[in-house]
Amino acid sequence: MKYSGNPFYTTYKWRKLRKEVLQSDKNECQDCKATGIYIKAEHVHHEKSIEKYPELALEKYYTDGIGTHRQLISLCEECHMKRHDYQHKPKEPLTVERW
Ligand SMILES: [Zn+2]
Ligand SMILES: [Zn+2]
Repeated sequence: MKYSGNPFYTTYKWRKLRKEVLQSDKNECQDCKATGIYIKAEHVHHEKSIEKYPELALEKYYTDGIGTHRQLISLCEECHMKRHDYQHKPKEPLTVERW
């Protein structure tokens, strides 16, 4: 996975912060939780990528014109992959089954 190659992820500061975020989310995947499923979170995702927003790399929240949002979110592996792999791909046409 491309994000694991960044040396930032091996820093003590990040590992400490990551643990804090996981603990405050009770180690639950927040995307799964939103759909009512409880899955153990193994990852902490940067909502704003650290490549584009290095100043947000160690922030738990970010603010934009709308308000304050979570910058760091606990996710399970599957949801984390989704956020990274699928968000840049063009949407696949929905296969709608009709009878
Ligand atoms: Zn999940
Ligand atoms: Zn991520």
